[in-house]
Amino acid sequence: MGVSGLLWAVRALVILQFVTGILGWGKEGHYATCKIAEGYLTAEALAAVKELLPESAEGDLANVCSWPDEIRFHYHWSSALHYVDTPDFRCNYEYCRDCHDSSGRKDRCVTGAIYNYTNQLSSLYQNSKSESNYNLTEALMFLSHFIGDAHQPLHVGFLGDLGGNTIQVRWYRRKSNLHHVWDNMIIESALKTFYSSDLATMIRAIQNNITENWSNQQPLWEHCAHNHTVCPNPYASESISLACKYAYKNATPGSTLEDDYFLSRLPIVEKRLAQGGIRLAATLNRIFASHVKIAQA
Ligand SMILES: [Zn+2]
Repeated sequence: MGVSGLLWAVRALVILQFVTGILGWGKEGHYATCKIAEGYLTAEALAAVKELLPESAEGDLANVCSWPDEIRFHYHWSSALHYVDTPDFRCNYEYCRDCHDSSGRKDRCVTGAIYNYTNQLSSLYQNSKSESNYNLTEALMFLSHFIGDAHQPLHVGFLGDLGGNTIQVRWYRRKSNLHHVWDNMIIESALKTFYSSDLATMIRAIQNNITENWSNQQPLWEHCAHNHTVCPNPYASESISLACKYAYKNATPGSTLEDDYFLSRLPIVEKRLAQGGIRLAATLNRIFASHVKIAQA
């Protein structure tokens, strides 16, 4: 291997290191989002979802909600679809300005992917299933995953720090980066501290919050303006706003994040998991309701 070859290898390694970190809520976060969604599916949507699930799901959508992270190296083209970056220190998001990949190709970002996979799944019920050119099992798994990702505040973060990936911090005594803290560490610490290391218990607590404390907000979360099937733009706007207010705040490079940060940010994380779940269910309900309407017409 010549010097240029070696340089290339080093660069590839550095990029890989970043890429592995920018791909979404960790396994627990995606599982929670999809598990919450399952509880709000209509009978029609649940039947359609079950029909599309791969065998490996064992009938449970939550089991395959991390699949897009597992195949990210095999499906190289998909890695830009897990997030969207805004210009540095801009706490707002605009689809036209921000939704593109690093080569500038339009619509290649998390919100663009949510539109794309919603359209693919909707086409199932506008044409007959056998005529669809898309792999709708994959479309369902991508859509379920990306709606979760769009709710992780740092999946709509600044371009210059790759959504917090280049901000090295300590999470208590462990070395980490800010993006990883929001993907994994806050949830992991919450599991250990409050939920006896049991994800099902944490999910039940979030479900109770939805029915008890957030019940008046739930219809607003579900609502899409102009009767649209899916509306990822407000989710991304909320995320960058939360990233500025909570994720980036008091988390400069080299800082140690401990109880103050953990306890004040955990409610944000839990609410985002709830919103992601409710909105995934609402989207799937709308996609698969058109089935019934067309069949009746
Ligand atoms: Zn992801």
